[in-house]
Amino acid sequence: MRRRKTKIIATLGPASSDRETIAGLIEAGMDVARLNFSHGDHDTHRRTAQWVREAAAQSDRAIAILQDIQGPKIRVGTFAGGRVELVAGQTVRVLAGSDEADEGEIRIDHEHLLEDLEQGQEILLVDGLVRLRVEERQADALLARVLEGGVVGNHQGAAFPRATLRVPAVTDKDRRDLALGRELGVDYVAASFVRVASDIVEVQALTEADTPIIAKIELAAAYQNLSEILGAAHGAMVARGDLGVEMELERLPRVQSEILASTNRCGDVSITATEMLESMTHSRRPTRAEVTDVSSAVLAGTDAVMLSGETAVGDHPVRVVEMMDRICREVESGPHHQERPTIDFLHNEEPVPSATTRAAVEAARSLDLDTIIAFTESGSTARLLSKYRPQARIVAFTPRQRTYQRMALYWGVEPRTFERFDSTDDMLLMAERRLVEEGVCKRGQTVLMVAGIPPNQRSSTNFMKLHRI
Ligand code: PGA
Ligand code: MN
Repeated sequence: MRRRKTKIIATLGPASSDRETIAGLIEAGMDVARLNFSHGDHDTHRRTAQWVREAAAQSDRAIAILQDIQGPKIRVGTFAGGRVELVAGQTVRVLAGSDEADEGEIRIDHEHLLEDLEQGQEILLVDGLVRLRVEERQADALLARVLEGGVVGNHQGAAFPRATLRVPAVTDKDRRDLALGRELGVDYVAASFVRVASDIVEVQALTEADTPIIAKIELAAAYQNLSEILGAAHGAMVARGDLGVEMELERLPRVQSEILASTNRCGDVSITATEMLESMTHSRRPTRAEVTDVSSAVLAGTDAVMLSGETAVGDHPVRVVEMMDRICREVESGPHHQERPTIDFLHNEEPVPSATTRAAVEAARSLDLDTIIAFTESGSTARLLSKYRPQARIVAFTPRQRTYQRMALYWGVEPRTFERFDSTDDMLLMAERRLVEEGVCKRGQTVLMVAGIPPNQRSSTNFMKLHRI
């Protein structure tokens, strides 16, 4: 069967945080396990992470753990009776705080609410279904008119698409969660509700030194600041759930393609998330539109596709991953899914590694070679090769367990570990022997080898060899 190149991220939750389901998800094709810190306590996440590591070792697969922190999400407070109905045309008083609101009031837990919102700006509630417009700023409250009504429940999210809010990049909860992430040795951190590049820097400072940060693009501000954010982050997620509240839904497809393209051009990892197979949360089959959506994301060049509620709280998590796997394989086998030799240098990368990996991918294409073998300390050789989207498989050897796990997220990369060698020749011999044993390569076959030399020194990618086995 054809190997899948696009990687699959599955969110673990109550429906999937047990040993058996985790093993089933890995078997079905999960490459990255996402721990969603908007839900669940530390004991649960600690245990789940442990089980992911155990199941990965048992199945001999590279599996990364992605810690997704909640970030400064702004929510409404509470209502007597747990909910309130807002009717179009009525005015409400909007106050800062998270206590129970009085009749005709809404509280929103943003300290600077009164100063940050201006007359004419909108407040969106219930996933954007309920819309309010600020009419007047009073001393202790904003007076807002309900444009579109509906029922608002306790602690639901609130969005302010056109306002510039003074919000901290990380909350106290995020700090505690990131401390747990350091303890667990997570492979990636996804930062929610970032607005500017310095938000990424703040999150980075709270992780283990070299943990890659994925910027979740879910605010209009983050989309506007995309290129500077990509300068600080290692990847971007098109977080369509919250982004779809921040902008008109019809803009999402175009914005998604744009974010994926910019992220790929920078050499960063790109992820497409939310509602990809949503109906499978309960249904045994996805809709036609969902299948087409996953395919479009793959064609638009996403490195990974992500499942959220489908695997976290759905009725049949393993079946969803199997479906995702089949859709990706199918679209990848089609004529439109091809390497992208037109990308020249990757924007945020050094020119020499870019040039080396690009040359390797070109050579593999023009000589019609099946296999590119990468040797890598940090994983960057594999990531750069991946970004040039070769048709050839990329088998990436690393002596570091952490790199082995991280490479699980890289498009088209098949991670392997090996014991360190002092010379490049010994490394080549080892790889050649193992790949022949595994049946990946045959004697007499020509493969491409790519590395940074001298070995063992985190040398940047500068070496490529056409090697006959
Ligand atoms: P979430 O982020 O699942 O944490 O909300 C993804 C999104 O908003 O799409
Ligand atoms: Mn979100």
